[in-house]
Amino acid sequence: MKLILLGAPGAGKGTQAEVICEKLNIPAVSTGNLIRAALKEGTELGLKAKSYMDSGNLVPDEVVIGIIKERLAQEDCRDGFILDGFPRTVPQAEALDAMGVEIDRVIDIEVKDEDIMKRLSGRRICENCAASYHVLYKPSEVEGKCSKCGGNLIIRKDDEPATIAARLEVYHEQTEPLKDYYSKKGILRIVEGQEEVADTSKLTLAALEA
Ligand code: AMP
Repeated sequence: MKLILLGAPGAGKGTQAEVICEKLNIPAVSTGNLIRAALKEGTELGLKAKSYMDSGNLVPDEVVIGIIKERLAQEDCRDGFILDGFPRTVPQAEALDAMGVEIDRVIDIEVKDEDIMKRLSGRRICENCAASYHVLYKPSEVEGKCSKCGGNLIIRKDDEPATIAARLEVYHEQTEPLKDYYSKKGILRIVEGQEEVADTSKLTLAALEA
């Protein structure tokens, strides 16, 4: 299965990617996580991406397309993958088509803007393994520590309130047109994001079969 998870920042793409990844045994590929890892390592790519990311803007298409090409060429992606946060623009979707990647399903997780605000302000991520938590909806077992690897949980710089509004605007302008792009191909399914993670997971897994 080759899947794409669409949705606003904070809609729960990363969380649902983790669920599907375990269920179907295919890797979750998050461009956001790949960029953050490059930033942590201090690579040239990371430095190039930093100002875009910190201000809530998208990293230029050619940079992200390069990252995804390299990642999808790896052995573990041979039998399928879940894309979380890619594509985010129509040119990125076209690049994926041009690479000959045939997507089976696109799941769009819909959450209202006002709920996104609440969700992002409570989000915490592990600085070590990038697992995602929420102080109310998906707390870690030990406060401040990742339940998977014990790493420290931190607030993403771009989850600050001023940046959240910018990211939502970018989402509506540049990423939302992808719904139409994939709807026309007949592979889009819409899932209403629920308050409980498990409820959204049920709907997401059902949408894979529909
Ligand atoms: P995410 O973790 O998916 O919310 O991504 C965090 C940030 O990384 C975004 O706000 C962008 O600055 C950058 N980013 C991640 N994926 C992409 C993409 N497909 N295209 C452009 N920028 C991206």
